[in-house]
Amino acid sequence: MRYEGYAFNDVFDGGKASGSINISCEGIQFYNDQGECHLPLAGLKLEVGGASNRIVFMSHPSVEGWKFYTSDKSILQDQIIQQNAHLRNQVQGLKKKKHLGIIITLLVLGLFVGSMGFLWLLKDSMVHAAAEQIPVEWEQKLGDTAFEQFTAGKRLLTDEGLHKQLEELLRPLRAVADNERFNYKFHIIEDSTLNAAAFPGGNMIIHTGLITTLETPEQLLGVLGHEMAHVNLRHSMRALINTAGVYIVADAMVGGIGALSAVILNGGSQLLTLKNSRVHEKEADEVSWEYLVDAGIDPRGLIGSFEIMEKSTPELAKEHAEILDFVSTHPALSARITYLQEKWDLLSDKERFKPVEFDYKKFQKDIRANLEERPVSEEEPQKGNGKEEGNEN
Ligand SMILES: [Zn+2]
Repeated sequence: MRYEGYAFNDVFDGGKASGSINISCEGIQFYNDQGECHLPLAGLKLEVGGASNRIVFMSHPSVEGWKFYTSDKSILQDQIIQQNAHLRNQVQGLKKKKHLGIIITLLVLGLFVGSMGFLWLLKDSMVHAAAEQIPVEWEQKLGDTAFEQFTAGKRLLTDEGLHKQLEELLRPLRAVADNERFNYKFHIIEDSTLNAAAFPGGNMIIHTGLITTLETPEQLLGVLGHEMAHVNLRHSMRALINTAGVYIVADAMVGGIGALSAVILNGGSQLLTLKNSRVHEKEADEVSWEYLVDAGIDPRGLIGSFEIMEKSTPELAKEHAEILDFVSTHPALSARITYLQEKWDLLSDKERFKPVEFDYKKFQKDIRANLEERPVSEEEPQKGNGKEEGNEN
């Protein structure tokens, strides 16, 4: 039989030429108008190769420098090749090789797809492990940048008396929640909405509206414990790391934090658009609950604060869609109230909690007085800033 094909040899321009391959009892012959070559059947070597093993190569150890090939694979079924036991065995070997090739390809493909899926499933634990590799200085820098951007143009109440009272209130909570890694710093911001937020590294903000609307020190401590838990569990930074590709995270997990550094160190403004996930919120609620119980503070304060927030007007919260923690898009407050109530029901030794000794009414009164105290000269630019901001949103 005759097949279309090619031959490699130096006699051809470019070392290769097309022509015909003829199979006969004498052997395999390649010919074209430039020349010809003959390979004996005995000792003939058959190979497959090229893309998807679509090409059949023929060579003979005694005919150096020559190799024929064709993409017509029917050549392997040629009657003369099939009648020669040596060649027939080679053809069968090639088929096995082909199957093995397909199996290996599928296995590799399967492993690749499987590992990708596996990596995605594992991403949360990977993000956790990657976060552990991040130097605390980076986290601090990220949090400070976000904090500065967030508070720009806002009024912080820096009155010493207010902060002394706040620290007194926080003392038992700090005793259980302080973490040597972070330097907790609480800032009071003039804002009538019921909200609070935490930044990586330890800066936390409390809106004056939250302090003046809540009714007991336990309620405020519940919210502040929740914010401290966000810092301690490094939720914002984990959310930011989560925005990086899975390979960057995988690399960081084993110490290759170079690629992640850009994500962290330039992530300050991005952080202001990231919200804590449902999982992180629940985690922060549960950890706050543990802090309160460990500190001997009645943990129902956390439930009470959610109940008050739930009743507050959601329109006010919507205006502040930045990173603020208790906006209407959060897991429904009612669901959180329900699972915290269940925790209370299961808690033993409920009588151990004594009311926190703290003059909450005085703290609220001083906050209000501080808000009214603002000098007239400061009033105009403050109002102006507020308006501009409102337009931007
Ligand atoms: Zn939260």
